Amino acid sequence: MTRIISHWIDGAPHEGTPTHRIDVEDPATGKVQGELLAASQADVDHAVAVARRAQNGWAKTSLAKRTAIMFKMRELVLQHSDELAKAIVSEHGKDYNDAIGEIQRGRETLDFACGIGAALKGDYSFDVSSGVDIHSIRQPVGVVAGVCPFNFPVMVPMWMHPVAIATGNAFILKPATPTPTASLLVAKLYKEAGLPDGVFNVVAGDVEVVTALIEHPGVDAISFVGSTPVARIVQEKGIANGKRVQALGGANNHAIVMPDCDLEFAAQHISAAAFGAAGERCMALPVVVAVGGVGPKLAELVKEHAVNITVGNGLDEGVQMGPVISSAAKQRIVGLIDDAEQRGATVVMDGRELKVDGHEDGFWVGPTVLDDVPLEAPAYNQEIFGPVLTIVHAETYAEAINIVNASEFGNGAAIFTNDGGIARAFQLEVEAGMVGINVPIPTPVAFYSFGGWKSSLMGDTHIHGPEGVKFYTRLKAITSRWPSESGAHEATMSFKREE
Ligand code: NAD
Repeated sequence: MTRIISHWIDGAPHEGTPTHRIDVEDPATGKVQGELLAASQADVDHAVAVARRAQNGWAKTSLAKRTAIMFKMRELVLQHSDELAKAIVSEHGKDYNDAIGEIQRGRETLDFACGIGAALKGDYSFDVSSGVDIHSIRQPVGVVAGVCPFNFPVMVPMWMHPVAIATGNAFILKPATPTPTASLLVAKLYKEAGLPDGVFNVVAGDVEVVTALIEHPGVDAISFVGSTPVARIVQEKGIANGKRVQALGGANNHAIVMPDCDLEFAAQHISAAAFGAAGERCMALPVVVAVGGVGPKLAELVKEHAVNITVGNGLDEGVQMGPVISSAAKQRIVGLIDDAEQRGATVVMDGRELKVDGHEDGFWVGPTVLDDVPLEAPAYNQEIFGPVLTIVHAETYAEAINIVNASEFGNGAAIFTNDGGIARAFQLEVEAGMVGINVPIPTPVAFYSFGGWKSSLMGDTHIHGPEGVKFYTRLKAITSRWPSESGAHEATMSFKREE
């Protein structure tokens, strides 16, 4: 019998009145392991009503109490990491260590939220006019909906909810349909941590649920992370419905490899970044721009590392890379490799035919290295989101940076070089939000926020950390005067400030 996966509303599991059921697969076996109940409009209405009611009380809860709950939640996430990681692996397919890694990085936002008192401090200026003072406070926006992608079932929601909740909002999480279970475990942990019922809710389903949340008058802000076409839809609809929106989109991260760099060091890091989590990371590294003829040598060195990657069921000991998310994803990735080959790319390493013993029906694509890929090839210029490294060639740094900056996306970019001058020029010239210097995946650190440029982020703020505090709060400036104080001035009709 398959498992039923439902919602979490008002501090308890909630089955509601589903519109339909969605199969949840195990990508390593290709088997259906659960049925997700897709929420109806009535379920969304219920979740929003519950969240609104809970938010009223939660916003008035002392910072001391909110902080204590965040500390408790942090401890619970540490204690339950194994359970969370197994839920991630069984639905996403990534290897267990990688799942533990994403929980750790998600937990770093909880660490940040434990210091919310400092992050929410306002400003105060006295005597801006005679006897007149001004101070600023940040207040919660209200009810926040978080719409998340499949590839980080714990970390990406944790970029959102700890900061949204710690700043006094209620939160409704819409997890991705292939990977919903970890969100329900997180909901249980919040309850155990003492968070009042209704402050954190999970409503599962598909496009209709997202649309219902975006159009709901009771939702004040939307945090979205996913692919660029959907990010655009969410941002446009969200703004049209009067919401505050941040929408992080897709990526096609490039690394420039300069001829002066330590090529062996670069190859090792590029291999890990291209093939980790089967390339299904927004900060994966699918493109290398090889400068001054280093492409073929680099391709061979990457291959030397990649052949040693153990691909298999992410729960098995020693596995370093799992399957891709679905049969459709596998077909799409293989199709892009076929097309690049037909356009003249050299297939240095080929993962198209990979089989894993005992898991014949899993969605496998092995590490693949394509050298000398034409810039017109969709394998290069689209987001491939699979374990494929495409290498394109440039003669000079100037040509390479132009290639990087011509990309539609600007999530992350990296350079491998030993030349400080080139590295400095790169960090200033590159059009990307997250930049690595001899670091292939400049991954998020909670107290610095995270986000891309161009088609990788729509909206004004990066996510989590200090930018998250801005997004989930509204600024208020309060000007005050006390007539009882000696020296208080008479009212005047003039706009001129009393000095
Ligand atoms: P996706 O865009 O298909 O789905 C994301 C969410 O949107 C899901 O919850 C889904 O149910 C919902 N959705 C799908 N179609 C919709 C529509 N038409 N209207 C409203 N909602 C809709 O993304 P995915 O395949 O789950 O995740 C992979 C993508 O996420 C990749 O493009 C990856 O780069 C991106 N991503 C980006 C970041 C980042 O920080 N920029 C981080 C992680 C993942």
